[in-house]
Amino acid sequence: MAPAIYLETYGCQMNFADTEMILGHVGDSGYVRTVDPTLADVILLNTCAIREHAEERVIGRLTDLARLKAARPGMVLGMAGCMAQHHRSAVTRRVPMLDFVVGPDAYRRLPALLDVIRSARTRTTDFRAAADDDPNSTPAQRGARIATDVRLDPSEDYADLRSARTPGAVRAWVTVIRGCDKFCTFCVVPYVRGRERSLPVDAVLRQVRAAVADGASEVVFLGQTVNAYRDGACDFAELLQRAAATPGLARLRFTSPHPADVTPALIDVMRDVPVIAPQLHLPVQSGSDAVLARMARGYTVAAFRDLVARVRDTVPDVALSTDVIVGFPGETGADYDATYRLLEELRFDQAYLYKYSPRSLTRAATWEDSVPDAEKSRRLSAVIALQERIAAERNRAWIGRSVEVLVEGPARRPAGHVAGKTPQYTTAVVNGDAAPGTIVRGTVIAATGHTLIASADAPAAALDLAG
Ligand code: SF4
Repeated sequence: MAPAIYLETYGCQMNFADTEMILGHVGDSGYVRTVDPTLADVILLNTCAIREHAEERVIGRLTDLARLKAARPGMVLGMAGCMAQHHRSAVTRRVPMLDFVVGPDAYRRLPALLDVIRSARTRTTDFRAAADDDPNSTPAQRGARIATDVRLDPSEDYADLRSARTPGAVRAWVTVIRGCDKFCTFCVVPYVRGRERSLPVDAVLRQVRAAVADGASEVVFLGQTVNAYRDGACDFAELLQRAAATPGLARLRFTSPHPADVTPALIDVMRDVPVIAPQLHLPVQSGSDAVLARMARGYTVAAFRDLVARVRDTVPDVALSTDVIVGFPGETGADYDATYRLLEELRFDQAYLYKYSPRSLTRAATWEDSVPDAEKSRRLSAVIALQERIAAERNRAWIGRSVEVLVEGPARRPAGHVAGKTPQYTTAVVNGDAAPGTIVRGTVIAATGHTLIASADAPAAALDLAG
């Protein structure tokens, strides 16, 4: 019988895309996916190292899953992703039942690693023969015989690997660039995912065509700095333009761009190519030039403000979202006030707001974490309250306007409605029935901070673009 693999994913959308790629790759080696961990021969958690909270969740979950191993001899338990790359020593100490650890550049070698581990069938075998270049492991960890492959490979782009997408999924995620060269002082990504490497443009276009052939109506390009994409003369704006021409593709969007890499050409293709959704995530992080400089973000508040104005002037009805960190080392009350005022002024449709927490390996982690946690929490609560008010106001501004909703399925409520996303990536519900992948048009009659409620304008079938 084919061995069964169970995967759980934590963190950003790139990890979810990696999970689909891992499933496609091990699937080509004979593994079948199971959604029931008790039936699995291999359990793999694809993890995130961006925030401490996510790490604690993963360790708790691994500890739970380790109990299944006792009841199912031969089952192997592994960890992949950024946390595997970054905290393998600590995790293997805390979860001694862990059998293997693979970093983000080691997935191509995963089937071979699993073969070694599973054919050994015993934890007394020296799995380290498969791959182990962890210079930080202690003699005690080496004695635990955990197979480890965390080698960063600057040439690995997985361009030729197939992704196993969820059947019937309306949206497909395509990673177009891996790694990051920016080295913001708070961020661990360049250390755990390595340097930037773009996929060849032909490989990206092939993946877009494959996603549409699998039934996706919308494709989202992914990258830690997605708009740093370049393959020879083809930059990110041209890549978008070429991908948008894929027959059957209704919408194309991308995340997450870096503000310093947003070019006039990118803004222009967002205006000129209807398939490219009018939605842009622009992570500002702080409204203080002093803090931005310490974060090494590569722009000033004035430059960011100009960029927002240019995008809003050029791309009709564009939705803007952002990221903000409060309580960064050295953030004064005045710095924080500047951030609050900038959010008030720029009125983003959505914002992802966080308290700073130090990540080892980063430069900021070597500085004094000067803002007390209670003060960080106070600052965070205030910007959350502000942003909730702004998001609700911006959504209410859609009342009376007609929107196109790409249907993802029945709405949980109200009954008799379908739910999906507008081009601006706002969740919307529309009365009536329509198949996933259909675009329906409705007039917005009410709005909350998170959802538009629309009344159908026309029979859904009339706008069916799914085929
Ligand atoms: S741009 Fe900065 S925040 Fe984004 S992934 Fe790179 S280092 Fe991290």
